[in-house]
Amino acid sequence: MATVEEVLEFLPRTDCGQCGMTCAEFAALLVSRDLSPEDCPVLHEPEYAGFIEALHEILGPAEAAITAGMLIDQDKCNGCGICVAVCEYHLGNCDEARLGRGPRPQDKVVFHVVNGTAVVVHQELCTRLVQAAEKCNKCADHCPTGAITLV
Ligand code: SF4
Ligand code: SF4
Ligand code: SF4
Repeated sequence: MATVEEVLEFLPRTDCGQCGMTCAEFAALLVSRDLSPEDCPVLHEPEYAGFIEALHEILGPAEAAITAGMLIDQDKCNGCGICVAVCEYHLGNCDEARLGRGPRPQDKVVFHVVNGTAVVVHQELCTRLVQAAEKCNKCADHCPTGAITLV
């Protein structure tokens, strides 16, 4: 599955704001399939010919995100950040999370709250995927709105 860093390579990285966010936030929403490459107006300019196709190529089919293990229902998520705070991976690997603060944009974490919604940025770090024997469910168990589905 594509990571935010890989996707960013094919975005203008100018943070022009036309999409209402930064390029990194846009990349996170591409990885979570909440946006499509076509939603960046700058990518339609001749200078970026081929970038939209390249993004579709590295993102792969939409079903890939669904079968990979974790889904966040954007309609149910209220952006409370509880999932980010309780995540088993974050508590073991992110200093900010250990201190009860939100991860910084540059921290490598499973998910961030971006513009009031939780988005998955590094699903491959989730301990459900890297330790098959240990089936962590903390984020889904603590989500107050039932927005997280772990498969
Ligand atoms: S519109 Fe495109 S270039 Fe501008 S901030 Fe959004 S993703 Fe980046
Ligand atoms: S705990 Fe649930 S409602 Fe809160 S940010 Fe996470 S997914 Fe959204
Ligand atoms: S299942 Fe556990 S490790 Fe994976 S994202 Fe949720 S809390 Fe984090």
